[in-house]
Amino acid sequence: MKQPLTIEEENIIQQQYKLLLEHCHRCNDPSEKALIEKAFKIAYEAHKNMRRRSGEPYIMHPLAVARIVSEDIGLGVKAIVSALLHDVVEDTDITLEEIAHLFDPKIASIIDGLTKIRELFDERSSLQAENFKKMLMTLSDDVRVILIKLADRLHNMRTLDSMPRDKQIKIASETIYLYAPLAHRLGLYSIKTELEDLSLKYRYPEKYHEIEQKLAETAQQRDEFIAQFIKPIQESLNKQGIHAEISGRLKSIYSIWNKIQTKHVTFEEIYDLFAIRIVFDPLPDIPEKAQCWNVYSIVTDIYTPKPDRIRDWISTPKTNGYEALHVTVMSQQGSWVEVQIRSRRMDEIAERGYAAHWKYKSPDSHESELDKWLRRLRELLSDPNSNALEFIDDFKLNLFSSEIHVFTPKGELKTLPKDSTVLDFAYEIHTEIGNKAIGAKVNHRLVPLNYKLSSGDQVEIITSDKNRVQREWLDIVITAKAKTAIKNTLKSDIRNRIEKGQMILENKLKELDLKPSSRIFQKLLPAYGVSNKEELYSKIGSDLITLDELPKILRKNAKNKWVRYWEITLGLSKADSDNGNQETDTEKYTPKSPFILKENPDEKTVSYTIASCCNPIPGDDVIGYRNVFNSIVIHKSKCPTAVKLLSSQSERIVPTRWTTHKLFSFLTKIAITGIDRFGIFNQITTVITKELNINIRTIHLSAHDGIFEGEIEIYVHNINDVNRLVTNLTKIKGVMKANRVENFEE
Ligand code: MN
Repeated sequence: MKQPLTIEEENIIQQQYKLLLEHCHRCNDPSEKALIEKAFKIAYEAHKNMRRRSGEPYIMHPLAVARIVSEDIGLGVKAIVSALLHDVVEDTDITLEEIAHLFDPKIASIIDGLTKIRELFDERSSLQAENFKKMLMTLSDDVRVILIKLADRLHNMRTLDSMPRDKQIKIASETIYLYAPLAHRLGLYSIKTELEDLSLKYRYPEKYHEIEQKLAETAQQRDEFIAQFIKPIQESLNKQGIHAEISGRLKSIYSIWNKIQTKHVTFEEIYDLFAIRIVFDPLPDIPEKAQCWNVYSIVTDIYTPKPDRIRDWISTPKTNGYEALHVTVMSQQGSWVEVQIRSRRMDEIAERGYAAHWKYKSPDSHESELDKWLRRLRELLSDPNSNALEFIDDFKLNLFSSEIHVFTPKGELKTLPKDSTVLDFAYEIHTEIGNKAIGAKVNHRLVPLNYKLSSGDQVEIITSDKNRVQREWLDIVITAKAKTAIKNTLKSDIRNRIEKGQMILENKLKELDLKPSSRIFQKLLPAYGVSNKEELYSKIGSDLITLDELPKILRKNAKNKWVRYWEITLGLSKADSDNGNQETDTEKYTPKSPFILKENPDEKTVSYTIASCCNPIPGDDVIGYRNVFNSIVIHKSKCPTAVKLLSSQSERIVPTRWTTHKLFSFLTKIAITGIDRFGIFNQITTVITKELNINIRTIHLSAHDGIFEGEIEIYVHNINDVNRLVTNLTKIKGVMKANRVENFEE
């Protein structure tokens, strides 16, 4: 709503601004007034021509909030400036950086906090007590954020008339369930009472007006009673030279309504509609406590006290700082009346909280007194062990239980549907985070991806670059965002694998001087047990099919798989062979009879050893290298050393073949990574030792940041042992990856 200000409105604004300055007890320094002036001008310009729903100029709202912050709560310049600017970042072009620059970073951070709460409560349709509590704990770094928010809420409640009915009910409900108890807990009694009354007014307008009217009807009668009751007390105090204000304090409409509700009584049956309050100016040099008891003594000399109704909040003040002496006495008319005895200081604290207290200290101690109070509030809010926030726990309301609110490690809020898992959260942050997620720390505790989150959880996703999206993930997410992202990634994964596989196959065929053709596929598809080209490509692309046997398959007649090596050897060694450099011994091993790697080589056969660079085990794809001692060294065919030998001394390369190995063990190494959780190391060793064919040589596992990594050296008989172990290790909950280390030095 935009509309230029009228002269009349300009005047009202200026008048309010003047009142703000006049009543700012905490800003005596001209430089402090200058800061407020600066903030006011910025806010005025920023909100210029903006209007609230009620039609009043928008600037009236920050001005009113600033006045509540200053006059009702008793905060200082920083808070007043922040209150004036509290809607500026959200509603106008001014940024937090500019505010930090124009004022100071502290003010910018308070406004940032306020903007965040606003996102949390004003913009979203959902709210939960647990969430509110978490917010309080998160923001309690600077309690001023919370105090200004309370002032903001109070002014919004005062001006709730212009809101549509459904908004009124929502805002009024939040106020009664969360803000009023918070104000109470912080010791802001008058704000609490006003919030309660306003909330009732909008939630149950008829009840509110009914009580309001009955109070008005009985006012005269009550006033007479109070005057009569007070008279003898006043006289007695005067005689003793004690200056005191005595008044009848009417119960709030809300507390009357509450009593009618909870005690099932009628308005007429409520006998304690009011209490008598004695606020005295203490005499110097006598402890306040003693003076309170002196007043107590004067009152009870006149009226008989109810013995079980004495409340001493002086010796032990309430957690919110409330101090007073309460006593219930019998009136002349035969009814019980509560009398509250307070010093002027106690009264200020009771009505306006600790910050109000500054008035009674010398100017020098203003800031430190305020700081002390703010620190107390901070402690109250941030101590998870204190029962300070129990009042919020009591709300088992789950007003909007279809949603949960969780936090990032930086305290940023994310709203998710109920039953969302860690993986949903990861995708909520970013698709890449989701794709790489392997687990999370929730409230610093390690949990798996399918862990269900609750409101208030703080979630830190653990990622790994090597992680791959799995189809099963679709079963552990519930948000549409996560589901779509997983499906898309799976699709593009498959596309990538098909493309990769196609490239690999085409390259292999090229090496053989062939091109893909339907004739070739007619041979390949049945040989690899796949039904179509895409499946073949995809399986090649994901390493499920290796093309080692490609030449054999294409040449149908080929007798054994070692032919390939011989062919490659020949191809590569053409130049060498032409030199006539070949040793004659080589001829012992013809391409058609590979060197057999027997378990018990007899004396006649050439001995062989296992290369320590790649440690092949029976079942591995291997080649032999005939060294100068005429013994054969067995390398994995993928081993970098073997590849080098193949290209430089191909004449010494010998095709080999394993026989079944059952007696001797070979050393191999397995790398394992996963999410650290209690008992996992034990489970890993159990799995390994259960394997009859496997002996552990060394096991080294270490954990950091909730992730463990480890290497296990084992003796196995053949590749089947390793594969079985890897499969079983991968089945352990928490193990993300287990694989054989291909090339390791012993
Ligand atoms: Mn506001």
